[in-house]
Amino acid sequence: MDAIQKCQATEAMILCDCDPDRPDFGGTRYDDRRPPTWRGVEEGIPALVEALDDLARQTGDDRAPITWCIRADLQMGETYSDCAWAFRRFEPLWRSLEASGDTIGWHPHLWRWSDEHGCWYQETEDERWIVECLETGYESLCDAYGDHIEICRMGWEFHNNVTMRTLDRLGLQMDASAVPGRRRGPGNDRGSFRHGELDWETTGAEPYRPSVTDYRRPAADGEASLDIVEVPRTVSRSALWGVARRLRSMTAALRAGSITRALWPRRQGAYIHAPMLTSPPVAYRHLIRDWAADGATEANARPFVTAFHADELLAGAGKAYSARNALRNVQDLFGAVLHSQIVEPGDSR
Ligand SMILES: [Zn+2]
Repeated sequence: MDAIQKCQATEAMILCDCDPDRPDFGGTRYDDRRPPTWRGVEEGIPALVEALDDLARQTGDDRAPITWCIRADLQMGETYSDCAWAFRRFEPLWRSLEASGDTIGWHPHLWRWSDEHGCWYQETEDERWIVECLETGYESLCDAYGDHIEICRMGWEFHNNVTMRTLDRLGLQMDASAVPGRRRGPGNDRGSFRHGELDWETTGAEPYRPSVTDYRRPAADGEASLDIVEVPRTVSRSALWGVARRLRSMTAALRAGSITRALWPRRQGAYIHAPMLTSPPVAYRHLIRDWAADGATEANARPFVTAFHADELLAGAGKAYSARNALRNVQDLFGAVLHSQIVEPGDSR
């Protein structure tokens, strides 16, 4: 079975970015070079897995399998003198998760220290550095793990042709970074930790082998394609959430004192609704329902692809994310996948 057939045979892929705790979740700031904290991995993941195991015992179904994408890159190397530190430090956890049916994946960030700005920033231009970051991170992680790692989710879901070709050359089978329709930047804040860019504007919903000349789409006739398979995240283009976002940005513009910006906002393209697995069920159900209504469970055989971050599992970590949300969303998702019980928006559990 090749990688595309493997995707089609999979009903749902849940991926976790196993990062250190981010500043919004009680972690170290981006202008701090000291080793970060890992409470999301140390406390959040074991608690979530225990709750999912309990749920599986109650329902008699298998526990939802998760792909744990572990940080390994030059930022980790610089911080801990070992790019694969996060694998080695928490190795008993990863090994026990793998033994229970989960998959170990890779999550590289292109974080580079800026002496000029005194902070970590996402390097998106220096190709030589980017290739070194990916090669060194991947090889270190595979060494620590003792085998090839087959799946990747890029930090901040960034890709360009260089990163996609590098992952392909390293022998990865799948990448799950695409968010179809989403585009951000590039802005003029390079060197700042605020600098984030990604471009999946032209990417569709189906898994594909990227064109050698454009990572965002499959190869056209006569074009060469890479061997790696890109598995896009499940998203919905929702008029309802589009209106909600427009109101939010109008309010923000008015608070900032710009009536012009409130009335004539910057062009932002179609609204892409892609909540994390840890988001409130009221937002998440809508995504499951759209995916199921698309017939993705049958004819298209397109997996439901979703993601979350370890620190979102911490109680009281702020924002709207939580492990409790993740549990409910998993229940709803597997109800839709296994039992075709499509949840309705008014269904409040
Ligand atoms: Zn990350």
